[in-house]
Amino acid sequence: PDLPAPRRTTREWQAADAAHFLHPFTDHQALASRGVRVITRGEGIYVWDSEGHRILDAMSGLWCVNVGYGQPALVEAAARQMTQLPYYNAFFQTTTPVAVALAEKLAALAPEGFQHVFFTNSGSEANDTNLRLVRRYWDLLGQPERRVVISRENAYHGSTLAAASLGGMPDMHAQGGLPIPGIVHVGQPHQWAHRDGAARGLDADAFGRLAAQWLEDKILALGPKTVAAFIAEPVQGAGGVIVPPASYWPEVQRICDRYDILLISDEVICGFGRTGRWWGCETVGSRPDLMTFAKGVTSGYVPLGGVMVGERVARVLIERGGEFEHGFTYSGHPVACAVALANLALIEELDLVRRVREDTGPWLAERLATLRDHPLVGDVQSCGLMAAVQLAREPRTGAAFDPAHAVGMACRRHCFDGGLVMRAVGDRMIVAPPLVITRAEIDEMVGLVRQALDRTL
Ligand code: PLP
Repeated sequence: PDLPAPRRTTREWQAADAAHFLHPFTDHQALASRGVRVITRGEGIYVWDSEGHRILDAMSGLWCVNVGYGQPALVEAAARQMTQLPYYNAFFQTTTPVAVALAEKLAALAPEGFQHVFFTNSGSEANDTNLRLVRRYWDLLGQPERRVVISRENAYHGSTLAAASLGGMPDMHAQGGLPIPGIVHVGQPHQWAHRDGAARGLDADAFGRLAAQWLEDKILALGPKTVAAFIAEPVQGAGGVIVPPASYWPEVQRICDRYDILLISDEVICGFGRTGRWWGCETVGSRPDLMTFAKGVTSGYVPLGGVMVGERVARVLIERGGEFEHGFTYSGHPVACAVALANLALIEELDLVRRVREDTGPWLAERLATLRDHPLVGDVQSCGLMAAVQLAREPRTGAAFDPAHAVGMACRRHCFDGGLVMRAVGDRMIVAPPLVITRAEIDEMVGLVRQALDRTL
């Protein structure tokens, strides 16, 4: 399983890793003291480490392995494409059949009004592309003063300079003087986080409308004619699976319409069935002008991202724009596109989107609700197959742990030691398992979560 690298013991891998590999989002001193875990293979919803331990991957890697590990159709598609044509570019008046076929397929799967795709390698690059697209759009319409993009606090939209600026993560902004100019943030519809402040005494409906009002207040403060776009995930993922109240998105849509502001739906996590529809915007009922995608489009088997460009923007870009001075060597990479096509076909063949909506999503919600009686659990939220378990020092009063992240890290460690990958976002524990997960596997997963919570007590 560890081919093509040489066979080594776990300790040898750990030493070589520490000597050479700078990991993303990692404190290397802390990593060295515990020893990195070496993952060597995967099958279905499980991965195995170099010591032979089986781990239930309740995070689908990084929210991406939607069809699970070890799907031969994706491997065969990659091999076939590599044999026939491993690479050709989409610059300089050339294209490849496989990239065209994927663009066509994505347009067919997208909500009405989306006919065009711009390919990138990642979600970060796709959001960089969005920033350039929306500014270009307003320039072409003779409104260059529309420059500002509004995002949300604690949002994650990627790690390049522009994407990290679009994101609202304070720790990321603290390094390197972000955000870049022209990007501002508003509060997120996170009722639990605001329970002692803005949300006190409000029901979910009223709080959803209040959180949308923060967007309108910001637009008015900036001046509506200076705002180019609003970007948000339908359900915020890396920020902690923040499922908005039902009143939030209709209000946000009304506000964007009212001030003629482009709406960018970041579907990097929510897209391709995670919420029980092909696109998260369909679940929450918004009508975006642009959609960012990545991760689930290939189930993470190879890197691919992009922007679904709605006709409102596409028409202006195509008819008035001349050359759009933007793109990547690997925009529309043939192997990535072949894997994406095989992945989308498999999602359809296994009927995964409907299964999430009607079967596994509701089952996960039901099983997670059984954790509400646990002395560490203050709240549980889910949407399709993404969910959060909110930890609290006193669940009845909602009193938080101080510092919040310590309890999350402890719980995550107990999960890992117990054979479960779960993510900690501060004091919220997150799951987003592969969409192929079965009811029995959900039962196993929730059992492991309870076990980790017991050990965290
Ligand atoms: N947007 C969202 C909502 C994400 O969750 C992520 C990654 O987690 C990104 C964008 C960035 O994607 P990538 O890591 O492929 O650059």
